[in-house]
This record gives sequence, C-alpha cells and structure tokens, in this order.
Amino acid sequence: MIRIEKVNKWYGRYRALVDVDEQVARGEVVVVCGPSGSGKSTLIRTLNRLEPIASGRILIDGQDVHRRGQDVNTLRSRIGFVFQQFNLFPHLTALQNCTLAPVKLLGRTPAEARDEALALLARVGVAHKAEAYPAQLSGGQQQRVAIARALAMRPPLMLFDEPTSALDPEMVGEVLAVMRGLARDGMTMVCVTHEMGFAREVADRVLFMNEGQVLERSRPEEFFSQPRHPRARKFIADLR
Ligand code: ATP
Ligand code: MG
Repeated sequence: MIRIEKVNKWYGRYRALVDVDEQVARGEVVVVCGPSGSGKSTLIRTLNRLEPIASGRILIDGQDVHRRGQDVNTLRSRIGFVFQQFNLFPHLTALQNCTLAPVKLLGRTPAEARDEALALLARVGVAHKAEAYPAQLSGGQQQRVAIARALAMRPPLMLFDEPTSALDPEMVGEVLAVMRGLARDGMTMVCVTHEMGFAREVADRVLFMNEGQVLERSRPEEFFSQPRHPRARKFIADLR
C-alpha cells in the first residue's frame, strides 16, 4: 500500500531523512519510534505531501505522492491524518466537524453525511457530544472527534503523529482504545507514538529512527526484547 523508495529530505543543510526505504502492506499497523528530532514527524508528513522530498519516491496505492501535478487534495482525502494538536474547527460542532469534508469533497448529501458522522462519533464514544463545540470538550474527546472526522472521509490509510502526547494522562487510554479498535478492524495505520504499550500490543512492525535513518525494523516482541542496533538498545533501556 505504501512504498517509500530511497527518500531523502533536507531542511536547508540539515539532512532530515537519509535514504529511507520502507513498505507498508494493506492492513498493517506500523509504529514509528525514536528519539526526539530523529525524523519521525518529517517521515510521516512526507507521506501526504505536507513536506516535500529532495529525492526518492513515495507510492501510495501506486500513486506517486510527490509527482509534479499530483492532485494533492484528492491524495489527502484518501489519507486520514491525526496530529498531536487536535485541530478541530473551533466554530463548528463535533458533528459539523465530521460532515464538512464529506459534503464538500465527496458530494455526500447533508443527511447521508450526518448519519455517517453520528455513527462514527458513536464508534469513538462521543455520540453524546455531537452538538458540542471543541472548547466544550476534553482533550481526549476532541482527539476522538478528530479521529472520527478523519474516518468520515473513509480513508484506506490513517497516519497518526503522537496523537496522545498533548493529552492529560487519564485521557490517553480512551484515544489508544479507539486506535486499537481501528487496528482490529483492519485499518492500515502508521503511528508515531511514545506509547510503547500500544506498540507492543498493536503494532505488526516497529520502525526505529535515529538521525533521519530507519535503523531497525522488527516485530514488536523482537524489538523490545532483543533490539539489534546499539542505539535502539539504549532507547529501550532509557524507557525503563
Ligand atoms: P519529536 O519526537 O521531537 O517530535 P521527530 O522525530 O518528529 O521529533 P522531526 O520533527 O521530524 O523529528 O525533526 C527532524 C529534524 O529536522 C530535527 O532535527 C528538527 O529540528 C529538524 N526540523 C524539523 N522541521 C524543520 C523545519 N521546518 N525547518 C528546519 N528544521 C526542521
Ligand atoms: Mg515529531
């Protein structure tokens, strides 16, 4: 589903991604971890072209993401993206946040979009807050609405960049539970997260990044019990 081929990315003279080669299969859940500044956000942001790349190629379902002339809006409508900050539209209710794009971009009727949005809000456990504005919601509720909003576009792929790291600890679990449910339902997911419990339980594969390189890619049970690369070993030791 995703092919990342020899991707390099620079911020000025700083090389933020170094020859990254990866593939993600349909239905796979990949967790990206690594120290701060290692390029995790950069990598995930190149997947929907929020960041340009200097060389290499990224294919999603065969579509060349960075090809000149690529229709970025169509591309992004097929990739759900959930950030650390919730980024809901503050002047719209939870429900309206979830119906806007399907009506505008997918041509759904308002009634169809509403039915689907209510079902999604129920799925993430905030149906009772459909008429609330973001400011009236807890962080965990806002983040779950943000996930519902992304799902409303029926994307075949979901990207998460530290979706729980801005949350109070007691709200982390409810967001991870939603992500766990999505994974169980077969969603293809790439998640940057420091939640190693989630990685252990849910990931099919863990990528470990350091200084713009993917140093290690392994199944979580291997990654946590016998990391191969010394830098990965230190990273895991520091978690304890
Ligand atoms: P964190 O865990 O702190 O979120 P990260 O692994 O997501 O870190 P990135 O945000 O991808 O790291 O950043 C990788 C490197 O690129 C860092 O050294 C960062 O300072 C640099 N960088 C990121 N964005 C920019 C930018 N817009 N301009 C210049 N340098 C940047
Ligand atoms: Mg980051």
